[in-house]
Amino acid sequence: MTTHTTRMLIIGSGPAGYSAAIYGARAGMEPIVVQGLQPGGQLTITTDVENYPGFEDVIQGPWLMEQMQKQAEHVGTRMMWDTIVEVDLEGGSPFRAIGDSGDEYVGDVLVIATGAQAKWLGVPGEQELGGKGVSACATCDGFFYRGKKVAVIGGGNTAVEEALYLTNHSDDVTLIHRRDELRCEKILEDRLMANEKITPLWNKTVERFVAGENGALHHLELVDTVTGEKSTLEVDGAFVAIGHAPSTELFKGKLETDASGYLIVEPGTPKTAIPGVFAAGDVMDHTYRQAVTAAGTGCMAALDAERFLAELEDSRRQAVAAE
Ligand code: FAD
Ligand code: NAP
Repeated sequence: MTTHTTRMLIIGSGPAGYSAAIYGARAGMEPIVVQGLQPGGQLTITTDVENYPGFEDVIQGPWLMEQMQKQAEHVGTRMMWDTIVEVDLEGGSPFRAIGDSGDEYVGDVLVIATGAQAKWLGVPGEQELGGKGVSACATCDGFFYRGKKVAVIGGGNTAVEEALYLTNHSDDVTLIHRRDELRCEKILEDRLMANEKITPLWNKTVERFVAGENGALHHLELVDTVTGEKSTLEVDGAFVAIGHAPSTELFKGKLETDASGYLIVEPGTPKTAIPGVFAAGDVMDHTYRQAVTAAGTGCMAALDAERFLAELEDSRRQAVAAE
């Protein structure tokens, strides 16, 4: 077991974690970023990004995250390929975290940027058929359904983008939404409606994912949310895109969360109730959940961390002088 000590420990390597690292490194806090199971975060499972400022042309999510990582490393961030399995926030700064590798991380300040993970419907067949027709990432698995029939479940930005993306591989894409109105941005709705390869199926939810004789997904059992009428839809692939839940398991009982599990911060700041522990990005933001807002709150966390450290180091100096 190795102990890695830093003035600024960052858990998570999405736009929030990397932005906190860029600011933290430039402020001399020599950050460590523990990257977790998804280095680069959610944008690594998407393709086109056209709303992150600074790029005239459409850019690719994985490329953007690679640039952020390189930028953070270039200014002095240490990247750790590890996943935090336990944190100790008791007693205040310094804070301790244990990685899956067995290594220990100790930081004078802690920035939590663990983001969010895909939600599942929780209906029969969904988990059993994972990798056999059911997926939560069209950009990762869409290729396997070349020329086949696919469905996307959900009505937000992710679902519509996934449906549009799948038309690169399939001419028969059904978008299943539980209402008759989409939640996504207007520009995406217009693209969806104009795409002849996509058929929206309104007011329907999936009750069950059913396998065929070969053990792979064969059809979906649907129920109409207005009439209660049951129906089936034969598909080879189904992509669940019903949103994301914050990754806050690690902090249960240690930091306050709202009813949906998002970390609670002092309004307008990334400060949690524990001085020196900051939260940035999707893990604390159930409203905006964008790459640019995650990067913004990552920056705020680093700036507040710098102030916290300056005060902490001042008070430590005064205590030594008084002895
Ligand atoms: P995330 O990107 O969720 O990153 C979380 C990080 O925490 C990951 O690196 C993970 O490995 C790490 N982590 C989690 N738990 C641990 C642990 N225990 N130990 C160590 N590390 C851990 N936004 C836009 O602005 N434009 C878009 O075009 C866009 N497209 C999207 C497409 C899709 C398919 C999805 C799913 C989202 C999209 N978003 C888009 C939203 C955007 O990706 C998120 O708002 C943003 O990534 C949030 O950043 P974050 O840094 O808070 O967290
Ligand atoms: P979201 O906006 O929360 O949308 C989730 C969708 O799934 C909603 O349409 C919801 O229906 C539906 N849904 C939720 N639970 C369901 C259930 N149990 N059964 C059936 N349907 C269910 O999630 P998201 O689309 O993943 O987006 C998350 C965030 O990332 C958003 O802030 C979004 O703007 C951002 N994002 C941005 C982009 C972009 O800017 N291009 C791309 C992707 C994501 P209702 O509508 O009925 O609630």
